[in-house]
Amino acid sequence: MSTAIGNALWSPLAHMPSVLAGGRTIITHGSGTHLTTDDGRELLDATAGLWHANIGHGRPEIAEAAAAQLQRLETYQSFGSFSNDVALRLADRLAALSPIADPRIILTSGGSDGVEVAAKLARLHWQLEGRHDKVTILSRADSYHGLHAFGSSLSGPDIYRDGYGPGTLVPETALFSSTDIDDLERRITELGADRIAAIIAEPVIGSGGIIAPPPGYFERMQELARAHDILLIADEVVTGFGRTGRWFAVERFGIAPDMIVTAKGITSGYAPLGAVFVAPRLWKRFFDGPDAPIYRHGVTYSGHATACAIALANLDILERENLVERAAELETVLVRELEVLRDQPGVVEVRSGAGFLAGVQLEPEIPGDRVAAVALDRGVLLRVIRGNTIQISPPFVVTEQEIALIVRVLRETIEQFA
Ligand code: PLP
Repeated sequence: MSTAIGNALWSPLAHMPSVLAGGRTIITHGSGTHLTTDDGRELLDATAGLWHANIGHGRPEIAEAAAAQLQRLETYQSFGSFSNDVALRLADRLAALSPIADPRIILTSGGSDGVEVAAKLARLHWQLEGRHDKVTILSRADSYHGLHAFGSSLSGPDIYRDGYGPGTLVPETALFSSTDIDDLERRITELGADRIAAIIAEPVIGSGGIIAPPPGYFERMQELARAHDILLIADEVVTGFGRTGRWFAVERFGIAPDMIVTAKGITSGYAPLGAVFVAPRLWKRFFDGPDAPIYRHGVTYSGHATACAIALANLDILERENLVERAAELETVLVRELEVLRDQPGVVEVRSGAGFLAGVQLEPEIPGDRVAAVALDRGVLLRVIRGNTIQISPPFVVTEQEIALIVRVLRETIEQFA
């Protein structure tokens, strides 16, 4: 652990005294599934960072695409009647991949920005329809939707909302059960469908503990949304661009959303970027006639040319190397390897089989952060997420042997604590 540099950095979501006392793990290089620290340790990235490094780290093709774009034009704003050629090309390419027919694409600076875009657009839609009470947005109790105002309000755990005093977050939000879909129906009845603008849901809950939808969950959600004129927003910030073995998880789980929020995998983390896919039902009024309204959301970096060039190069790699299909194959390998953990003392549950991602929930007495620290000392970088759950979600370029190694190190480490 190194403490020599970076005392000025205030790390997000961190207990800073512990960070400064324990020292940071400082990553300086990456190549494929491997990372190198400033003190020369080699680590196997078992989570693809924060679920972003789908094509693996340090790919020269991306560096070349970024350099070529920077030499030509770093960016020009994609605002008003200006845009840049790369943002336009990326939007067309995303539209061609989109599970929503004939979408329009809003490019964002990341996932939290995308959630903001989708939530505000849902509310604006109903205001323009004259249904002024339809403002509440519902989300699943274990979900994570980023940490901007809507995201903090819509993410399940209280820790993201508490402590800011009144008026900072969006009060017109409500939670429903992540697993019991009847609870959604109860919430709609309680709140009144006339007050509900949208439901936002991760197809597979990521940071909330890797929770797959129970059978019938999304079918019923969709029936309820349709019956009550409620918009459906899929948050595919984790699942988009291949993580569930499909380009988008809504294809796998049979969800027909009005908007899809994406980020992370759109560039595999090589640049901050996101995209919101918007269905015709929502975009049409903004595109037609002199009185068309304006959606006043955007940031300086919406459609940033270099980020978009990186996204295009990332899509090229995903397609050329068939990495989405590869993720589907790797899911089978991961499920098989994880079998050994199912009856292991100290393990409550192994959640896998909803894509190339898995969660191993540990008994409360097993300190998940210590398990991750010991695994790190053994060269495997895992992460503890909500509910004392160990996240496994390697890059799509991981080998079967590396998956076996990840599971072996995890099993042996849990044994030490059980
Ligand atoms: N939505 C989901 C499902 C996420 O997992 C995340 C980030 O982890 C976000 C939104 C926020 O994305 P970002 O961190 O890019 O703002």
